[in-house]
Amino acid sequence: MTDRPAGSRAHNVTVVGAGIVGVSCALNLIRQGHAVTVVDRLPPGEGCSKGNAGMFSSDSFVPLSLPGGIWRVPGWILDPLGPLAIRWRHLPRLLPFLIRFAAAGRPRRVAAIADALAPLLAASPEQHLKLARGTAAERLIRRRGALYVYESEKSMAVDEPAWRIRRDRGTRPQPLTAAEIREREPALAPIYPCGYFLSDLGHAAEPMRLVKALADAFLAAGGRVLQREVRDLEVGTDAVSRLITDAGSLDVDVLVIAAGAWSGKLAARLGHRVPIEGERGYHVTIANPGISLSVPVFTSDYMVIATPMDVGIRVAGTAEYGGLAAEPNPGRWRVLVRHAKRMLPAIDTSTVSEWSNLRPTLPDSLPVIGRAPNFSNVIFAFGHQHVGLTAGPKTGEIIADLVAGRTPNIDLRPFRVDRF
Ligand SMILES: Cc1cc2nc3c(=O)[nH]c(=O)nc-3n(C[C@H](O)[C@H](O)[C@H](O)COP(=O)(O)OP(=O)(O)OC[C@H]3O[C@@H](n4cnc5c(N)ncnc54)[C@H](O)[C@@H]3O)c2cc1C
Repeated sequence: MTDRPAGSRAHNVTVVGAGIVGVSCALNLIRQGHAVTVVDRLPPGEGCSKGNAGMFSSDSFVPLSLPGGIWRVPGWILDPLGPLAIRWRHLPRLLPFLIRFAAAGRPRRVAAIADALAPLLAASPEQHLKLARGTAAERLIRRRGALYVYESEKSMAVDEPAWRIRRDRGTRPQPLTAAEIREREPALAPIYPCGYFLSDLGHAAEPMRLVKALADAFLAAGGRVLQREVRDLEVGTDAVSRLITDAGSLDVDVLVIAAGAWSGKLAARLGHRVPIEGERGYHVTIANPGISLSVPVFTSDYMVIATPMDVGIRVAGTAEYGGLAAEPNPGRWRVLVRHAKRMLPAIDTSTVSEWSNLRPTLPDSLPVIGRAPNFSNVIFAFGHQHVGLTAGPKTGEIIADLVAGRTPNIDLRPFRVDRF
């Protein structure tokens, strides 16, 4: 018994990428009666999806290049505690991305981007619950809301354009005073005079375990996971016929490319030069913090999130542009520990683990979702920047619609691969 509508044909689908996006696609597809193989060089959930901040942030549809944000960029880069870093050697290659990034900050573009992204992120905690229902992933989903805090009224005012964009699209932030913030989260330092509570947000108790539990459900439903590196595609005139992997070739009927920050090379093989950057983020997870938080707390001044997880308190952030091959900068982990202590003065940081990986980021903050224009059997699902965990389940639903020949219930035109 499957969820596939009567009359629609079952396909053999190969998904490249076993992050939250690829696994969400695979689970949706197998539940609709398709035969599905996932190919990844790593076990499921061990790319960027492994160590993110765990937020289901349905409100994060404001593009990264919001006008108010652009003038803060030089200060952020110069501040050693700042959220943005650029490896200067990468700058010449990054310049075209930066130009497009700035162009995406024009007011009309910002509104259009927010309109496109909002339905992809909408009701993310519920989307996760729907996907996880009946699997071990279900108990890893928390729906308790989240807190945004500011170190001054002035910095809250700087963020007001972003809040206006959110409110205009249905977000209902509840303003909080210093006392209300402390009452909600007594472990926070008394340095936050104002903030917002967003009751509709949620988080994962551990994002990697969430992806692995979904992948286990996929396997239990008869799916196949192959741990292989895809080195190339065998491309015919209007279809991809095979994947060339480090362990031989694989025939392809329908191909979904969900390879996160590494998708650019595969898209280029199909003639699409997508300006995707691997945007490095970092986390420290403090296993025995000695204090607790009830919900994730986002400090808007430094763009750092502290999330309560089953594995401790995770403090995550940083957007670093250095190219796919650059090694992590250990200094960024020390910066995150300093942020942890600034936010949560009584935190015990003697048990810290460190992690870093690459977000798949496009200059207009929109992913690529949809059919490849010139190849009848290829579908793209990558480029989810800071919101891949949030948008994974919805993306999986959309990809299952496309494979079945149904029209998805959101407008995919803003996500076209050939928009650049
Ligand atoms: C510090 C940090 C905090 C974040 N916080 C949040 C958050 O709170 N909420 C949120 O929604 N998002 C967050 N994100 C973003 C989120 O983690 C990403 O958007 C998401 O993980 C992307 O998922 P993905 O499946 O597209 O990519 P990935 O998880 O990277 O999966 C892609 C997979 O493709 C595989 N692959 C690539 N190329 C090949 C190849 N040639 N052959 C075989 N396999 C290949 C990789 O091995 C990888 O496993 C955060 C990111 C970071 C770094």
